[in-house]
Amino acid sequence: MQKGKVSVNTENIFPIIKKFLYTDHEIFLRELISNAVDASNKLKVLAAKGEKTGQLEDLKITVSLDDKKKTLTISDQGIGMTAEEIDKYINQIAFSGAEEFVEKFKDDKESANIIGHFGLGFYSSFMVAEKVEIISKSYKEDTESAHWECEGSTDFKIKKGKRKKRGTDIVLHINEESSEFLESGKIQGLLSKYCKFLPIEIEFDGKVINNTEPLWKKNPADLKDEDYLAFYKELYPMAEDPLFWIHMNVDYPFNLTGVLYFPKIKKDIDPNRNKIQLYSNQVFVTDNVEDIVPEYLMLMHGVIDSPDIPLNVSRSALQADGNVKKITGHISKKVADKLNELYKKDAADFETKWSSINLFVKYGMISDEKFYDRTKKICLMKDVDGKHTILENYIEDIKANQTDKDGNTVALYASNLDEQYSYVQQAQDKGYNVLLLDELIDNHFVSNIEQKLDKVQLKRVDADTVDKLIDKDEKSESVLSEDEVTSLKEVFETTVDAEKFTINPVVLSPNDNFITITRSEWERRMSEMGSMGGMAMFGSMPEKYTISVNSNHTLAKKVLETKDDDAKKALLNNALDLAKLAKNLLKGKELSEFIKRQEAGL
Ligand code: ADP
Repeated sequence: MQKGKVSVNTENIFPIIKKFLYTDHEIFLRELISNAVDASNKLKVLAAKGEKTGQLEDLKITVSLDDKKKTLTISDQGIGMTAEEIDKYINQIAFSGAEEFVEKFKDDKESANIIGHFGLGFYSSFMVAEKVEIISKSYKEDTESAHWECEGSTDFKIKKGKRKKRGTDIVLHINEESSEFLESGKIQGLLSKYCKFLPIEIEFDGKVINNTEPLWKKNPADLKDEDYLAFYKELYPMAEDPLFWIHMNVDYPFNLTGVLYFPKIKKDIDPNRNKIQLYSNQVFVTDNVEDIVPEYLMLMHGVIDSPDIPLNVSRSALQADGNVKKITGHISKKVADKLNELYKKDAADFETKWSSINLFVKYGMISDEKFYDRTKKICLMKDVDGKHTILENYIEDIKANQTDKDGNTVALYASNLDEQYSYVQQAQDKGYNVLLLDELIDNHFVSNIEQKLDKVQLKRVDADTVDKLIDKDEKSESVLSEDEVTSLKEVFETTVDAEKFTINPVVLSPNDNFITITRSEWERRMSEMGSMGGMAMFGSMPEKYTISVNSNHTLAKKVLETKDDDAKKALLNNALDLAKLAKNLLKGKELSEFIKRQEAGL
């Protein structure tokens, strides 16, 4: 038997490993199984090169628990190691790797996140074990089996082993505080998290737990829709079927495979469910892919597999990485291409899907110029009657009737059909088209297209009286004299709260409403952005409205002619309350009093 010390400067490396990996102890299993898979794959490569390796049919890896001995064992039938190789790979190389890693990150707050992403390999087993044994026999003929053991200090022992067949057993004597890893349910859970799609069969409790040929590794030409749907169910058993998907298969200049699904996005969507999973050569790495997938595509589901995404680096290094940038760009382009392809193939079908995908298309158009350019020809505008038109065509369509005196084409929209009903009606009566923009994102989207398109404005239907929404400078004759208009204004000003309402006499047709309450487009957008957390300074802005009084309406004359104070007040209050009702502003006490008054008059 040989005794020795692993080559080391830092005596206390094991306590550091334990401390550092505290948050992510469970990854030891992924590390050890990855090593076993590597050892099996290496054997296949050697056999392919014509080396003598022995049988290759059964490379199954077995994970087993021994309650009595308190051990967890991972056995593979891979290339194995001789005593010399253990000394080289485990005592020297692996150890120095671990040491370097700890040195590098011991003062780094981010290490808690990185550490889970490979890097410590074999030595991570000391997070959960008080003693680790390696019993291994090399595939090379005429080599002896070796038995290494180490109790979590820098001392190790190595002797002849009893293993007869090629391969390696890693035996972990689980320490007291890690006893959860002796529970079969716990191990089962970890295996299905990290190992579900590993390329070599993994057996636990007599059952193979993995799918060695996951769909994303197959040739798209050999796959049918059912296969993609079945794989989706395999990934997310509880989820509704996705709308469509893209299969990525790139090997130059970076390696990327995977399938991304477009789910049916609902209003109450939870972005933390059914997240995209990142794999590296079929080993699960994380479902936290925010630095790899553009934010607007985070609502998609599925799998990305790339060995070219660096795993043991900090977030900032990841974001600056050339491959990651290329991969991000590739994914975004693929998504845009797919959307264009679907639209071309069947526009009517695309329209039915639009409500489920418009959120992330718009989000992408806002946050990524390239994505905007690639999707602007499939970005649909839906009007209140349910008709869809491509953005660019829409602007052309409305140009003739909806251009104001300054040459701006004004697109009108509603964000809530019920609440803005009477305003929509008035706009439609004028022959205007009204869009329905009722997603949370639309507020930003509207500002974004105004910036990108020349001489185009968007206004919500209740932003102004219908004649001013699209101001064509058409003057109507006023029935009232100037003095009469002034006194009409004064009457109203003494009735309403001046802090909140501004009175604005307007000359409309006698058939238009007497009173219309509006809130300017600019002010509403600012305050909505404020309440969405975008700009705190606008958040507390008081709500201000304009009360437009149509001086050509017969009620205008009636107000001026009513001499009895009480009767005049009642008339004004009723007229104002009706306008507030139309704007959804009549609430609480005011509403209750209004109802009482109406009932009394019945
Ligand atoms: P890494 O896997 O990142 O190289 P590890 O510390 O996990 O680092 O392993 C160090 C080395 O030990 C591996 O590169 C491999 O040569 C060897 N090794 C580890 N586990 C096995 C195994 N099950 N079979 C054969 N060789 C192994």
